[in-house]
Amino acid sequence: MISDVDQFCAQYDCAPSLRIEAPGRVNLIGEHIDYLGGCVMPVAIEPKVTLLVAPESDGGKIELWSTEQNDTKYKISPRDFAPRTIPKERWLNYPIGVMSAYAEQGVMTQGCRVGIFSTLPAGAGLSSSAALETAFALLIEELSGQSCSILERALRCQRAEHKWVGVPCGIMDQLSVGAGVKNHALRIDCEDQSIKPVPLPKGLNLVVADSGVKHALADGEYHERRRDCEAALEILHEKSWRNISLESVLKNQEALGDRLFKRARHVVTEMQRVNDFSDALINNQISKMARLMRASHNSLRDDFEVSCYELDVLVDAGFTFGARKGHAGSRMTGAGFGGSTIHLVHESIASNFIEHLGARYHEAFERELNCFLTQSSHGAHIRSLSTLKPAL
Ligand code: ADP
Ligand code: MG
Repeated sequence: MISDVDQFCAQYDCAPSLRIEAPGRVNLIGEHIDYLGGCVMPVAIEPKVTLLVAPESDGGKIELWSTEQNDTKYKISPRDFAPRTIPKERWLNYPIGVMSAYAEQGVMTQGCRVGIFSTLPAGAGLSSSAALETAFALLIEELSGQSCSILERALRCQRAEHKWVGVPCGIMDQLSVGAGVKNHALRIDCEDQSIKPVPLPKGLNLVVADSGVKHALADGEYHERRRDCEAALEILHEKSWRNISLESVLKNQEALGDRLFKRARHVVTEMQRVNDFSDALINNQISKMARLMRASHNSLRDDFEVSCYELDVLVDAGFTFGARKGHAGSRMTGAGFGGSTIHLVHESIASNFIEHLGARYHEAFERELNCFLTQSSHGAHIRSLSTLKPAL
């Protein structure tokens, strides 16, 4: 197979001197509460977005080429912050948005040639967008010599996604991609934005299954859930979800009405589940972790209404494999309406488990399941390739 460096050399007729890698992430628990100031527990994973960079270019332009986007080469000016509206060019709004967020802080991007490679499926709920943004943020910092903290970088990337892509995402994705620690989950408090790495139990592996579903409705539904939560908070006369107990939600059931009551019940119970899961993880209480992941999935399915049939089939299939055989929890991960499921399994049975999930999925949908085993990974980083010789 032709290496990414060789592909870069063939495309640009020069060798790259920087390699930037940004991982995807799964979230173990704490879904749809990052934008509500809750705590979440993501893990950075091995599949990643890679940038190869040659810091020189034609007339100071930024040349971009992604193997995932028709292999077309684009040239943009470091000062041209016009949004791209043609569908096949919309992905450029991620790098342009990040450049614009740095320019707002007085940090200008210089010309360079960039090749983008990815082992992370895009649009599968594994944060390829945050990986792409973070990789570009590191690139801008490296070329300008003006680096910033992981938190500040994540905030700039989040701002780019809000303003340039129109997705009002929370901060979880960008922080997990930036701050991942090998063999650890991250407990991120999205209210004060603090991050605490929590060790993952030895011998547990992560299995990710891509449901293959991308709902066109997802963006609209995401906005609606955010609006529902704002309306519920107002009815509960509170400024922060962190101050609201389940008792208070139950007491206000009538005022909230059926839909907002269910949304509120998900938020407060999910916040509690993250605390319980974090304790269970620290104390190696695997069956408690599995119970909490099941409850989280059910709450997302029934109260927050963001699951779909394919995700439910995969999660149910995970649990029917059985705890005694080494299964330790399954859940949808990411915003939902399709995307992926995350499964915790003992390393000795991971391949049997993947086979089991694939068989159940095929039985239900008559198509192949894209499912993979992954370890946790460290966060986004940059490496010099200056000693590397191009294989031209
Ligand atoms: P997720 O973050 O869960 O993968 P999103 O819809 O938030 O899903 O982001 C996916 C979008 O990010 C893609 O449609 C594309 O615009 C952009 N993207 C992701 N990876 C790449 C890549 N390797 N090259 C170009 N664009 C990418
Ligand atoms: Mg995304």
